[in-house]
Amino acid sequence: MFCVSVTYAQEASSSPIAVNLQTSHSSEQSLLNQAISIRKNDREKSIDLANRALQVSKEKHNSNVSAQVHALLGEIALEDKDVTQAMEHFLAASIIYRDMKDKRYENADKKIDDLLPIAKTSGVAWPVALILIKQADSDYKKKRFEEAIKQYFHAVNYLGTPTKAIQKKLAETYKKIAQSYKRLKNREQTALYYRKTLDVFTAIQDKKNMARTLNTLAEAERYLGNYFTALDYSLRSLEIHKQINDPEGRAKAFNGAGIIYRYIGRYEKALEHAYEAHLYYKQVNDFSGLAKTSNQMGLIYTRLKQFEQARSFYQLTIDLPENKIEPKTLASALREMAVIELESGHYDDAMVLIQKAYKIYQNENNKTNQSLAARIIANVYRAKENDEKAIFYYRKSLANAIEVGSEIYQIKAQIPLGVALVGKDNDEAVSLLESALALSLKANMTSYQLYSYRELRKAEKQRGNFVASLDYAEKEIELSEIIQKEKEDNEIVLLKAKLYSHKKEMELASLKEKAKLDQLDLAKKSSEVELAEQRRRISELELIENQYANLALACLSVVCLLIVIFIYRGFASSRKRNKELDYLACHDPLTNCYNRRVLFDFLERDFSDLASLGEYCLIMIDIDHFKEVNDTYGHIIGDKVLCRMANLLLNKVGEKDSVVRFGGEEFCLILPDATPEQGVKMAEIIRQKVENSDFDNISITCSFGVTSIQFSATSPTELIHQADLALYKSKVSGRNKVTLWSDDEDLHSS
Ligand code: GH3
Ligand code: MG
Ligand code: MG
Repeated sequence: MFCVSVTYAQEASSSPIAVNLQTSHSSEQSLLNQAISIRKNDREKSIDLANRALQVSKEKHNSNVSAQVHALLGEIALEDKDVTQAMEHFLAASIIYRDMKDKRYENADKKIDDLLPIAKTSGVAWPVALILIKQADSDYKKKRFEEAIKQYFHAVNYLGTPTKAIQKKLAETYKKIAQSYKRLKNREQTALYYRKTLDVFTAIQDKKNMARTLNTLAEAERYLGNYFTALDYSLRSLEIHKQINDPEGRAKAFNGAGIIYRYIGRYEKALEHAYEAHLYYKQVNDFSGLAKTSNQMGLIYTRLKQFEQARSFYQLTIDLPENKIEPKTLASALREMAVIELESGHYDDAMVLIQKAYKIYQNENNKTNQSLAARIIANVYRAKENDEKAIFYYRKSLANAIEVGSEIYQIKAQIPLGVALVGKDNDEAVSLLESALALSLKANMTSYQLYSYRELRKAEKQRGNFVASLDYAEKEIELSEIIQKEKEDNEIVLLKAKLYSHKKEMELASLKEKAKLDQLDLAKKSSEVELAEQRRRISELELIENQYANLALACLSVVCLLIVIFIYRGFASSRKRNKELDYLACHDPLTNCYNRRVLFDFLERDFSDLASLGEYCLIMIDIDHFKEVNDTYGHIIGDKVLCRMANLLLNKVGEKDSVVRFGGEEFCLILPDATPEQGVKMAEIIRQKVENSDFDNISITCSFGVTSIQFSATSPTELIHQADLALYKSKVSGRNKVTLWSDDEDLHSS
């Protein structure tokens, strides 16, 4: 039919849009052809012919020619610089082409765009926008959402001048874009354009639309799983609804908030809000709204596991006049009720209900929900142990899911179908489960991955394929750990949203309280009391909100405490070890007396501060003829005697005094604060004690050399030397004696 090339057409009419000479010589077509051919020579006549062509083509519903005539008239108007006329014709052409799904609409749209700057200055942008929006609306109605979005965007360009009416149109256009994206299931874009809608409504302070948009935006954010934001928008919507009179919008906002509360697990709040909406719909006899809110309450009671209440609300929907509610709302009630009956073991009741729902979905040609209902029917058959029918309906469910391209419903059908086929057709069972696994891996749906692994493990075991079965078991374990963590994360998100909702409530309550106070103008004192109470409640809620932080803090504290204990124990044990080492370094292992090194340390220390040293005595002790003890009783007994001797010394000396094992059978006593006389006295006491003691039936004696700081020793060595010399004197003078050092020639020379 269409035979003229674009190049030829452009030459012929210089209009790329009007081009389409038809071979058929219908009157409207020949009128158009004539109009085109004389356009350059006789403009008036060309317009006249074109208008006649338009009239005839409209009568004959020849859209193709109508569109071409509009395009031609647009070109002519453009030559006359009549922008409004040109625009109108190009728009008309564009609308017709679009309806015909003819690509030439793009040319028409381009022409319109070319006129945009002139249109804006000449004030025709507004009508253009309206027409473009109309076009977009018609696309939307025909469910051509992508086309609609394009055209809405196109319209937005013409909504530049910031008057209130235009701003409102702009907001509405954004809303339409959001709605189109919603139908296309593009959730991010949906939320984005609802936000833009809100911005514009906010700019012009259109409260009613702000409140309504906030509610829709809340829903969009909920779809995205942003419960925080959703709740925030929802509560803002409810707040505005308090100031305005829009009962329908208010009911919607209550319903929306109820859903969000249900999602975050605040069921009481959810019920409260859903019920508020429910009341409104009851009041105005809006059955559709009543059904929706009843279902909503049914869902909440199901979540609360209060199945009786849930049942009664679904029943409420089911009992409403069928022609007054949306079929899918009725089907939802039937379906949810069927699930409750199935869970309660009332299989026959469940079957009746779900079959009804299934029929509705069939009538509505809703394949997605058919897939869902078929699966529930199959589940009921499974429960009734009718595997043949169960398999039949799982297959139906799967076929529907594939038809609509819903991967999640495919997985949901494939897994139970696979499970039902185990033992009947193991190969098909495994192949179905493998397919479900592949899909859930692709869509990153971990719980279905886990489900697939588990069933594949069982199926492979059934097939005798133990290696594969073991492999799946390992994957199952690995994944269940990951899921556990994800679950915890999700719970935290939900908990946060819950806490956030408490906080929001508190903020609102405090605002309300404040308003109350202002109103009543309470006495200062009582207002202070109120405020204190408010503060207390706020901090209480803050506390709840911080519960997680506190929990984390508590955990942290426990960890810190454990670390401290650990460190302390390490520290304590190392201290003990160090003490032991120190002890060993200072003491003689046999006798537990200080060793020789310590004697020098002590003497060094005390001599370093000679001036402050008052009295100071040193006694050197040597056991007489100890060699003989060893020789007579052996070394071991000799050692025992040494220990006894040491104990005797340790018991005899005062607190400040020190006992040192100086060498083999030689001991040394340091007696600070002791005068030479006191030193001698002490030595004498010890001498007598030793003499009179019985060391395991062995009698020994000792010789003593006593010296004092008073004898002007200037160094530890000198002091020791003096004591040694005195001891020597005791030895040579017959042993078992005490000698006080004296500076006599006799001693020195001997
Ligand atoms: P005197 O005191 O009168 O000079 O005679 P003595 O036999 O004590 O002589 P001397 O001091 O020369 O000998 C000390 C002896 O002490 C030598 C050694 O056998 C003994 N002896 C030294 N250390 C130990 C020890 O740890 N255990 C034992 N069982 N004997 C030791
Ligand atoms: Mg000796
Ligand atoms: Mg000796």
